[in-house]
Amino acid sequence: MRVLIFDDDEAIGRLVVRVATASGLEATAVSDADAFKQGLQTDPPQVIVLDLQLAGTDGVEQMRLLASQQYTGALVLMSGYDTRVLATAQSVGKNLGLKVDRVLEKPLNVAELGEVLERLLLASQTLSPERLLTAIANDELILDFQPIVSRQPKTLKKLEALVRWEHPVLGWIPPDRFLPAAESDTATIDALTDWVVGATVDAYQVLAELGVSVPLAVNVSVCNLHDLTLPDRIDQRLRAGGMTAQHLCLEITESAAFTDVACTMDILSRVRLKGMLLSIDDFGTGYSSLKMLRQMPFSEIKIDQSFVRDVTTSRDSRAIVKSIIGLAANMEMTCVAEGVETEETADLLEELGLCNLQGYLIARPMPVEAVSAWLAIWTGSTLPAPATRPTGNPAAMRGHGEVFHTPSVPSPTGTESDVVQLSPRQLEVMQLLSEGCPVKEIAYRLNLGIGTVKVHLSLAYSALGAHNRIEAIKRAGPALLGRQIKQGPIG
Ligand code: C2E
Ligand code: CA
Ligand code: CA
Repeated sequence: MRVLIFDDDEAIGRLVVRVATASGLEATAVSDADAFKQGLQTDPPQVIVLDLQLAGTDGVEQMRLLASQQYTGALVLMSGYDTRVLATAQSVGKNLGLKVDRVLEKPLNVAELGEVLERLLLASQTLSPERLLTAIANDELILDFQPIVSRQPKTLKKLEALVRWEHPVLGWIPPDRFLPAAESDTATIDALTDWVVGATVDAYQVLAELGVSVPLAVNVSVCNLHDLTLPDRIDQRLRAGGMTAQHLCLEITESAAFTDVACTMDILSRVRLKGMLLSIDDFGTGYSSLKMLRQMPFSEIKIDQSFVRDVTTSRDSRAIVKSIIGLAANMEMTCVAEGVETEETADLLEELGLCNLQGYLIARPMPVEAVSAWLAIWTGSTLPAPATRPTGNPAAMRGHGEVFHTPSVPSPTGTESDVVQLSPRQLEVMQLLSEGCPVKEIAYRLNLGIGTVKVHLSLAYSALGAHNRIEAIKRAGPALLGRQIKQGPIG
């Protein structure tokens, strides 16, 4: 990562170069405006450290230059002025659309500067397509599932798979933060989508064993629609996992303009011919939603959250939502409202004739193993019995029964003598995890599929009340030494 420093005091420029180099960055310092402009063009930096008080110019003028050049990297400001001036300068930068990361007071605190630069370097590595490929290989990604329902009668229609990254250092990262990096490189977005489809097929098997059999939706980026083999890759994965094409829905968001319409139409037509469902996501916000709807064989429209959010307060949004519902009906497509957060919104949507709802009002995205318990609570029924004839890998199901038929969720901090109940398989998997084994090795050692190991891990996490592997190991650590975790019955 390259950093360009602009300070008219050359001694400070040299100091920042030294700190940046020690932090692992490539650094250059300049002391006049012409050299700064030159540096921006010849070797565009990812980070700029800019002094506000400069001879012959000033930091605000230089920020205007950066904005005019559409500089998208991070900006660190430095100044010896009082904090009010620093705060104002920071606002000016933000109003110009620049990413002002920090304002550092002079005299510089070298440790603080080092920390800022190291953090920026780490963030840039996190968001790189290469790092994401490593994350896929190391099983750092997870899927959560969010229900799409109709309320009268209470029916689960579909579950949407949403990807998350459990970064070993940075923790839980939402998709919006790493998708731009994935989409910047076709090999990376293809690998991500292949992983998501594979993990969705694994989840489908788990759900089938729990007696939940509904279509699953995955998000596919427009950037995936460049390769004619995509429908065959998905089809192969479905067959390998015993999932029928009718149970998979692809949600396409028009996050980027189509570059090759013929190729996109070829892919989407073949997806439909193979029997998969096809949904146009975030409808109403894309570059050419209506044109896309006319050209491509969609079977469903998802109304964007922005229209749904203020449907009860804005007449315009209500008119738009009503029109989209009519459009879907006339084109014989199903229609879903996403981002439903209140009863009032749900009631109004139903009045307008829209019954398929998704949003926090119904449920937040959840791990696959929580779906059956959620469904039982939501419908007010008893917990569903696992299917009599397992359709998936039987090993994947060991341990599921007792977890979902145990009504009280075990709490790692509860007073009931802090006992957490794990199945023998979950116990084994947690033990290996705490010894530092990666998921792949655990799967190899226990002769299980990777998907199966992940299911056991997720179940153990929920039993331990942990949100990620670091927390789970921390909580299970002392217990695995023999005292607190009780072995549950074999399911
Ligand atoms: P999306 O496909 O529109 O998914 C819905 C997003 O809205 C999800 O955010 C979901 O958690 C959130 N959401 C659901 N209900 C509500 C609600 O009632 N209120 C609010 N405020 N938010 C709600 P998430 O999981 O952060 O995903 C963001 C976007 O990232 C997704 O938007 C989708 O475009 C993309 N994405 C997620 N998973 C994948 C994936 O596997 N592949 C690709 N290519 N994109 C994905
Ligand atoms: Ca979606
Ligand atoms: Ca959406």
